[in-house]
Amino acid sequence: MSREKGILKESTLEAYLESRGVSRRGFLKFCSAVGATLALPASFAEKAAAALTADNRPPVVWLEFQDCAGDTESLLRATRPTAAELILDYLSLDYHETIMAAAGHQADELLYQTVNNYKGKYIAIVEGAIPTAKNGIYCMVGGRTAMAVAQEVCGNAAAIICVGTCSSFGGIQAAAPNPTGAKAVMDIISGVPIVNLPGCPVNVVNLTATVVHYLTFGSLPALDKLKRPLFAFGKRIHDNCERRAHFDQGQYVEAWGDAGHRDGWCLYKMGCKGPSTFHNCPTVRWNDGQSWPVQAGHGCVGCSEPGFWDTMGPFYDRVPNVPGFGADVTATKIGLGLVGAAAAGIAVHGVAKSLQLKATDGEEH
Ligand code: SF4
Repeated sequence: MSREKGILKESTLEAYLESRGVSRRGFLKFCSAVGATLALPASFAEKAAAALTADNRPPVVWLEFQDCAGDTESLLRATRPTAAELILDYLSLDYHETIMAAAGHQADELLYQTVNNYKGKYIAIVEGAIPTAKNGIYCMVGGRTAMAVAQEVCGNAAAIICVGTCSSFGGIQAAAPNPTGAKAVMDIISGVPIVNLPGCPVNVVNLTATVVHYLTFGSLPALDKLKRPLFAFGKRIHDNCERRAHFDQGQYVEAWGDAGHRDGWCLYKMGCKGPSTFHNCPTVRWNDGQSWPVQAGHGCVGCSEPGFWDTMGPFYDRVPNVPGFGADVTATKIGLGLVGAAAAGIAVHGVAKSLQLKATDGEEH
């Protein structure tokens, strides 16, 4: 396989997948699964398959700024190569500091070749926040500030996909007191379509679905007010949680390792922020759909919400305790109830601030 004009070259995507053990049938199955993730009708699979095998794949560059590389790890650490990973690989990444073979000026050259040759045609994937204090000197790449790199590379892209909470909302770098003035990409770039895929780290299923949607329809999926795709962030964790029946029945874990914990009861009293966090973790899960934190026995920490380091802590304190939860109570009502409780000053914990923000947001999911 060789690289030409910024695109990994092999006869067809099907040939590429087949050479790595993914059959045509497996490929179509993958397209159907992406359609299901995007909540689109079955006919989407054929359209997606046609779009993915067409010879007009856009180059992709992956920028990394203030981050822990967890989103890259999320992409690379699957237990076995999946069609999703291979498709992202095939697209292909023209520039990715962490995993590319080139280094130094050679790597820079590849990046700016893509920017210059494919102005307005490439996808920029961004991992990490962008420091803006002191003219951005807290993060330098190839002698340039992350701010300058982002402005040039993201500013000339066809679309920007922010992977992880840091590039989407600033993440831990932007937590108080935010000494480097860390900001989200959407705070410094305008005029280019942006989609945020927050989470610590990004779920590669959502990244793949977003890319496939873009390649199939030439546009980003429908977004909420925080630029998150509704297919992945339209529902609260609490709405689809497998422990929800226990919540509705008032069956809570009271201490780590107690009988309720061993029996899979609700983690609300152990600090679970699922009732105030929007993400599809319970349905897509992690590690090839094997599990997710709540299934493994730990409460949700709200990592896909803006400012969660400041608003969702302490992580092991429960959200405000509002009486009257019953089997017919929806997550929306609970959210509103929690806001009411916060306003009344009842058992207010750190999460109240984020709940208040949601109340003023006015969006009903
Ligand atoms: S509070 Fe957490 S563990 Fe309990 S049902 Fe909701 S999301 Fe699941």
